[in-house]
Amino acid sequence: MKKRTVLITGSTSGIGLGIAEVFAEKGYNIIFNGLEKNGAEIAREIARKYQIDHMFFGTNMLDPVALRGLVQNCVVNFGSIDVLINNAGIQHVSPIESFPEDKWNEIININLNAVFHLTKAAWPYMKSNRFGRIINIASVHGLYASEFKSAYVAAKHGVIGFTKTIALEGASFNITCNAICPGYVKTPLVETQISDQAKFHKLSEEEVIHQVLLRKQAVKDFIPIELIAQMSLMLASDNACTITGIALPIDGGWSAQ
Ligand code: NAD
Repeated sequence: MKKRTVLITGSTSGIGLGIAEVFAEKGYNIIFNGLEKNGAEIAREIARKYQIDHMFFGTNMLDPVALRGLVQNCVVNFGSIDVLINNAGIQHVSPIESFPEDKWNEIININLNAVFHLTKAAWPYMKSNRFGRIINIASVHGLYASEFKSAYVAAKHGVIGFTKTIALEGASFNITCNAICPGYVKTPLVETQISDQAKFHKLSEEEVIHQVLLRKQAVKDFIPIELIAQMSLMLASDNACTITGIALPIDGGWSAQ
């Protein structure tokens, strides 16, 4: 079988990088993306380790025209886009009365609108190939709210609504679309929150982890990146053709309450 190609946004850090590593191990061609300055180097290192074909593009999720170009690059270089993993995301924590408007727009554009632009651009290729797997890394905040995260919660709820709609539209073309909803994962996105909250609450970072962050999870541990990556791999497989439109919590029991 022809090697499949996966485009993973935000794959030079955190969860996306972990997903890339698992897909590389399975021999996928990978299009890496991210804003890390050493992104090309990170991508090259994984490609070398697993002997896979890859490309890296530092395309900014804020630029819809460039996002269409990113998908084009994928198809021109590898002949198809089989799996799209919408993972790039940012966070900003602030009460609504002081929530900066530019941060609101940035979060909605990166965490939600880019998911639309990339899905739309990949759609015709997936449809004509009669194969497509779209995996959106949403969040438990796509299902439940926490205070001071209005833009993030709104964007992630939007991603889940979008996921369900695309699942319905893709059903007759063997295109599935699913969302994964992690609880807290220890990545740079969360490390910033830990240090900010420690200052705000005048607590140690260890106290913030247990008293603030993991408070809502029944399992008082961070979610392993590897688990999200393995779940993504499963959802990308042929076997997963009838799993579509789900918002799958991997959240240490947060959403069970
Ligand atoms: P991270 O900060 O480690 O990685 C985010 C990635 O997105 C980086 O590669 C970054 O360069 C990229 N990115 C950010 N803005 C971008 C832009 N404008 N254009 C292109 N790339 C951009 O964070 P992470 O925790 O690995 O987050 C990955 C995804 O997982 C996000 O969508 C996040 O909302 C989601 N998530 C994270 C957690 C968590 O606890 N860490 C929990 C639930 C969901």
